[in-house]
Amino acid sequence: MGGGYLGMWTAWHLLEREPNARVVLLERDRCGFGPSGRNGGFVNGYEDKLEMATERFGASAARRLIDAAGRAVAGIGEFCEREGVDAWYRRAPHVEIATNPAQDGSWADMTSTEVARHARSARFRGGFAMPGATVQPARLAFGLRDRLLTRGLRIFERSRVTRVTGTTITTDGGRVDAPRVVVAVNHAAGALRPFRRRLSTASSHVVLTAPIPEKLEEIGWTDGSALADHRTMLHYFRTTNDGRIVFGWGGGRMGYGTRRRRALDVDPKVCDHGEHMLRRFFPQLEGVPIEHRWGGPIDVSPIRLPQYRQDRRMMAGFGFTGNGVGPSYLGGQILSGMALDARDEFTSLPLVDAQVPLFPPEPLRFAGGSLIRAAMVRADEDADQGRLSSPPVRFVAGLPKRLGMSLPR
Ligand SMILES: Cc1cc2nc3c(=O)[nH]c(=O)nc-3n(C[C@H](O)[C@H](O)[C@H](O)COP(=O)(O)OP(=O)(O)OC[C@H]3O[C@@H](n4cnc5c(N)ncnc54)[C@H](O)[C@@H]3O)c2cc1C
Repeated sequence: MGGGYLGMWTAWHLLEREPNARVVLLERDRCGFGPSGRNGGFVNGYEDKLEMATERFGASAARRLIDAAGRAVAGIGEFCEREGVDAWYRRAPHVEIATNPAQDGSWADMTSTEVARHARSARFRGGFAMPGATVQPARLAFGLRDRLLTRGLRIFERSRVTRVTGTTITTDGGRVDAPRVVVAVNHAAGALRPFRRRLSTASSHVVLTAPIPEKLEEIGWTDGSALADHRTMLHYFRTTNDGRIVFGWGGGRMGYGTRRRRALDVDPKVCDHGEHMLRRFFPQLEGVPIEHRWGGPIDVSPIRLPQYRQDRRMMAGFGFTGNGVGPSYLGGQILSGMALDARDEFTSLPLVDAQVPLFPPEPLRFAGGSLIRAAMVRADEDADQGRLSSPPVRFVAGLPKRLGMSLPR
């Protein structure tokens, strides 16, 4: 269920392992219609989450996870190369940058001069770089769909799953009986009882400039590096093959349950913020038009890492928390293994059946989440302005940590 990267990579890896398996993919809209076709195109693993993963899972399990996620970044590139998918895959450093004194920290092992070798902004301070890649997200999603069809996968688009009873799936127009069901529907996984309190819904939005190759030269941003700041609600920004900047903000509003809310897909206020911050980082972009702006739902996991769970003969993956392009390839390796009852290097990763704190039920989750989000946005803004946040803001923004959650970055 679900024709995003996770569902499609799961089908791909199933067919790699069992070429004669009969796999049917059901997609509500069109494959790649969700965030998989419209994300920021940062392909990264979990290098920056080593400390957090070590605390949660222990050193050796965390290391295995980080290595597997790193191999997934390379795996997507190899897939594109081998299968002739022109997804604009490009190896590129991912640089995380402090953009105000409050973000300075021991994690920043690059000086501002070193950061400036990737791109120049008066707001950039120290940072650190990790290996990664970038893609054009829709090209990857459509290319993957194409190759799956060539391999004989049966894909039913415009087939919304309305009910799952055991391993019988009912859609708007039909029914599938299967020995195994894999759920890969992003935040909609929360509609199924076993997963309901294991994730919540937020949103992320991006704005895209007109092509501006000469401005990129002026900024010194020509190595294709993908950048992000160190806010709690982070800004992420990169250049595209056709000389644009795509600038995103992970601070979109919360969703209620699994409802499809328009503001999750396009929230003008959140896009305005992205545009404002883009121009704050790069004042030389004054007058450069924004040609497109959009967003999409984010499946938030309380541990900031996805969860892979099994409930009888149904497996599910969800909770990418805004970092799913590279990790969904690994997710496909994990879920295909689970669906085949394999005991291997993927199904033994600590994200499978991980112990995680539960979110409260609705409407508490929406109310509490919205309040915490507002406090985090305010605390980020205070830090930018060099102000100390008020005690209530600090208290509310610090709540998830006290509840054993790592939200959202
Ligand atoms: C604006 C934005 C920018 C992002 N940028 C990045 C980035 O740069 N790097 C990164 O790593 N991550 C990024 N992400 C997150 C990343 O895009 C996602 O984590 C990833 O694409 C998730 O893939 P998925 O297959 O789980 O979900 P999706 O792509 O949402 O796919 C799920 C599919 O399930 C379908 N579906 C839902 N309900 C049903 C149903 N009832 N029946 C049938 N089908 C159903 C949906 O239509 C959808 O196609 C971004 C997200 C957004 C919104």
